[in-house]
Amino acid sequence: MRIARFTTGGDPRYAVVEGEAGAEVLHVLTGDPIYTPVQKTGEQVPLTDDGMRLLAPVIPRSKIVGVGRNYAAHAREHGNDVPASPLLFLKPNTAVIGPDDPIVLPDFSQQVEHEAELAVVIGRITKNVSPEQALHHVLGYTVANDVTARDIQRTDGQWTRAKGFDTSCPLGPWLVMGLDPDDLAVSARVNGETRQHARTSDMVFDVPFLVSYISEVFTLLPGDVILTGTPAGVGRLEHGDRVEVEVEGIGVLMNPVVRRS
Ligand code: MG
Repeated sequence: MRIARFTTGGDPRYAVVEGEAGAEVLHVLTGDPIYTPVQKTGEQVPLTDDGMRLLAPVIPRSKIVGVGRNYAAHAREHGNDVPASPLLFLKPNTAVIGPDDPIVLPDFSQQVEHEAELAVVIGRITKNVSPEQALHHVLGYTVANDVTARDIQRTDGQWTRAKGFDTSCPLGPWLVMGLDPDDLAVSARVNGETRQHARTSDMVFDVPFLVSYISEVFTLLPGDVILTGTPAGVGRLEHGDRVEVEVEGIGVLMNPVVRRS
């Protein structure tokens, strides 16, 4: 099942997405499926309707937990070893934008890069869960771009500014429930040219292990998001680019890139 968050001009609402690619229809829901039981209102909105805009499928109330260097070939492309245990960082929820929202290149960086990732959305309060039980705590999956100011990541030493700036966490186009995260294609294209392409089976630490490991550090709350790391092929984004991240079984997340100064 696919769940979208959208607006037709008023407050954000949620909907179940049905139909084939190019002919999707949003079946509007009452309430917020991340936190409350919901039902269909009967209203239907075609995805292509004028004035219909998809939003980030979730705005985490507490945190986005990123995982660094979780694909060996990506760790190597920057001359790093694969860590012995997951390398964690946080992004604030103010970094989140939705499909088609612009990634705004920050003034303090001259080297902003895309990172295509599978994102895990937590569905239940989760603390010290085992890998075997971890997927029962997942609500669903979406597509993420862990946009990173690579020059600042190097010079700052820690990653808050490099990975936490406004617009650095595009999420979308919707949540997919009931997906097996084990072996999905993950790719990034810039202006139509493929830059990253790998499979989640190439991850050093898989999704159940990551949820378990992270839940030993933090209590995970419904709506929290885990970014599972990016494959090799990260590259620079420039003003005017269009960056698409695709995860098999979920869809395509597109964002234009702008520099405002
Ligand atoms: Mg990343």
